[in-house]
Parts: sequence; structure tokens; C-alpha cells
Amino acid sequence: MIVFLLLTLLTQVGGFIYLICLSFYNHMSSRGNWIGLFLVIYLACTFIVVPMLAPLFGRVALPIQKSGDLRPHTWITCLLNRHYVTPALRTSVNRIQEAFENEIPDVPIVYLDANFPFWDGFPLLPHLSHDDGRKLDLAFVYKKKGTDLIIPSGAATLTGYGDCALPRASEVDQTAKCLGAGRWFYDITRRLAFRSRGESVVVDGWRTGRLVKHITAETKIGKVFLEPHLANRWGVAGGKVRFQGCHAVRHDDHIHLQIK
Ligand SMILES: [Zn+2]
Repeated sequence: MIVFLLLTLLTQVGGFIYLICLSFYNHMSSRGNWIGLFLVIYLACTFIVVPMLAPLFGRVALPIQKSGDLRPHTWITCLLNRHYVTPALRTSVNRIQEAFENEIPDVPIVYLDANFPFWDGFPLLPHLSHDDGRKLDLAFVYKKKGTDLIIPSGAATLTGYGDCALPRASEVDQTAKCLGAGRWFYDITRRLAFRSRGESVVVDGWRTGRLVKHITAETKIGKVFLEPHLANRWGVAGGKVRFQGCHAVRHDDHIHLQIK
């Protein structure tokens, strides 16, 4: 039961596939063979069946190749079926990518968590609002410290979350305010981050600010969530760029966008 719940919460369809495979358990010669069968069926469903069925539920997959102009930070996002959006959001993101590419060539847009492929109202933990295909998280643009060398694979953590651009002494420290108000969950992504690179990778504030400008210029985009100190630092505060509130997680490690 715990395996079913975990797979469902993490991948949406994994628990269902697990239950189907359990019915074959007694026919398999060993536990290893059964696990192999589960993995084969899970991969076939994830990369063939689910992308074919998702449009029936008003969702399409984002590109899964790590070499494209719009690419996942990690294949794990796609392996867990967390890269689905509505066709309208996919079109908007394509337009944002083209506008960004026109101004700043050769810098890919790296996406993090999007939504699950089926059913509105099924949250993609830990993002409670990513439950209708209309939400998407993008990575900041990163570069090698002291240079102009872009790091195309995104944030310096395994998940893409938690590599926070912290407030300076003169800036608003929203995290301290939320933690002070008892919202311990606000800081969870930074606490759980596993850094995959050293301190030599830093946020490229100018290019990330330009990316936010192109996101807000897209007419179908309704809101963008970004931590106040970064919105002010990068000159993008106001309009569609909002503070998400202390009930969510901190947004100084990624950009959250959603269509109207
Ligand atoms: Zn988000």
C-alpha cells in the first residue's frame, strides 16, 4: 500500500501500473524478474502510452530532449511524468522561447516541474497549485562565476530547486519573515537541495531578468511568482510579477509562471 501511494504521489500513474503488475506476481519466477517487468511496463507507459492519452485530458508533454531550446533540467522530471502542460501554455512557452532567443541567442530555457498528465485537481507535490496544466516552473539562467560562460543545464542542484539567490543585507528578506511567522515549509526546497556543482556556478541576473520580461510580455501569461528581493534587484517588480505568499515555498531559486 505504501509503495502504491508513493508511486501515485510521485508519478501519478506509477501506482496504477504497480497494481496491474502485482496481478502477475505469482506467475513470475523471481522477485527480480517481476521488478524487471514492472520497469519495462512503466517505461513503455511513460514514454509511449501516457503521451498518447494526455491530449484526451487537455495536456501535452514538453520536449524531453536535453539538447533543445526548451529542455528539462533533469530527465527525472520526464521519467516521473511531471512535464505536462495545457496546449495553450505550451504555445505561450514556445512564443516566450522565440522572443528570448531573438534577444539572447544560444541560451536554452530550462524547465523544472510542470503538471501531471491526467485530471485537474491532482497536485504535483510539493507544488500544491500545479494541478491543472496551467502552471510551470523555469530555472534561472546560470553562468560560471566571474565569466560570461552560460551553464546550459540550469541550477546547481539535482532537482533544479533549492539553489537560492539569497537577499543581500540591504534587501527584503522574505524568507526570514515567513519563517518568523511559523511557516517552516517555506524553506523546505533549500533544506532538501543536493548541490551537484560547486560554488563556481551563479545566477546570471541580467539574462534571468530579461527572461522574466519576455514571460510577462506574453499576453496569455497571468502571473509570475518571484521572491521580492530578486524582482527588485532585476528590475522586473510589479505588474504580473508577484510574491506568492508564505503558504507556498520560496521563489528565489526558480520562476513560477501560469497562464490566465
Ligand atoms: Zn510553480
